[in-house]
Amino acid sequence: MPVTPDSSSPFLRFTHVKKTYDQKTLVVRDFSLDVRQGEFVTLLGPSGSGKTTVLMMLAGFEHVTSGTISIQGQPINQTPPYQRNIGVVFQNYALFPHMTVAENLAYPLSIRKLGKAIIKEKVARYLDLIELPGQAHRYPDQLSGGQRQRVALARALIFEPALVLMDEPLGALDKKLREQMQFEITRLHRQLGFTVVYVTHDQVEALTMSDRIAVFNQGVVQQFAAPSALYEQPANAFVAGFIGENNLIPATVSHFHARTICATLSTSPINARNGNCTPADRQCLVAVRPEKIAVQPGASNHDNRVTAQFITRHYVGDFIRDYFVLPTGQKLAVKTLNDARAQVFSEGQPVELGWMADDCFAFKPDSPLTEGA
Ligand code: ADP
Ligand code: MG
Repeated sequence: MPVTPDSSSPFLRFTHVKKTYDQKTLVVRDFSLDVRQGEFVTLLGPSGSGKTTVLMMLAGFEHVTSGTISIQGQPINQTPPYQRNIGVVFQNYALFPHMTVAENLAYPLSIRKLGKAIIKEKVARYLDLIELPGQAHRYPDQLSGGQRQRVALARALIFEPALVLMDEPLGALDKKLREQMQFEITRLHRQLGFTVVYVTHDQVEALTMSDRIAVFNQGVVQQFAAPSALYEQPANAFVAGFIGENNLIPATVSHFHARTICATLSTSPINARNGNCTPADRQCLVAVRPEKIAVQPGASNHDNRVTAQFITRHYVGDFIRDYFVLPTGQKLAVKTLNDARAQVFSEGQPVELGWMADDCFAFKPDSPLTEGA
């Protein structure tokens, strides 16, 4: 039965998608996600968490074990890859080595049977778009890694797919080039308006490029939210630890309220926002970011205060990371801007540290990843 596009549906929808390769282990356990038209969505997670598998199912290169993937309300599980009209860029971009840049770009258009004149015009336009106008007649091995990746990007976009998938497309590039390409990709996304599902294990890349990020672990989405929400309101201890830096310190719950938790950390009373603790939780992890911790004498006007011994300092350049140890043996990192106010401590020196209740969360220590595993 033909299905008509449904304008009330999200552009792309995964509904309870599961995947097993060996009929035993689910590498994607229960994946549901809605992506809006024109949105830049990133799947972010550690290696082996199932990100590539999700993209392969979306592209049609892997079967879905159960569940549904639909585009504009239309299930595509049974649609062959070439009929999905999805642009794909992978890390090990396979440009055709025996074809010039122009021929590589023309390829997706000629298999779609576009006319010669249109192809010529489009190739020129996309070479301009990726800022490689003089390189049309070069072969891939005559280009730098960054240039090759830009050609791969143009080849994925040139047939104007509504949806573009990118799997660690910048993984092989060095840091400077990677940052430049991040800029290029977001520029093209804004300019051309296609929808992106991007995969990376690099959280800085995810935070800078995405409208929303699905944090993935062990085949399960831990949180799907805008970059600032992931950073400022992590849903659980995994996200708190995975996005940015966090001190995750074991503490004992003394009072549970729906929105706040009082806990004892070392011997100090601590007030925190409730992340995902329930009344039954006796232990929690107090999460406080290194840049939210003040050192004495500034620590004294903060809600939560502990005394810890200075261990060592890591000089990072724009900031300094100082390490302290609590009497419980738990280490704490403190980030301070590298300016004249950065104090010098001696090894073993007791230092008062302080942070605001609003700047810390209490989370369930048992990470949700292992639940039901
Ligand atoms: P990621 O992209 O997040 O690193 P993958 O989707 O590549 O994760 O892999 C998820 C899990 O599935 C891993 O344990 C991996 O070994 C397994 N896997 C991936 N591809 C295959 C395959 N073709 N056959 C069998 N197992 C696979
Ligand atoms: Mg992968």
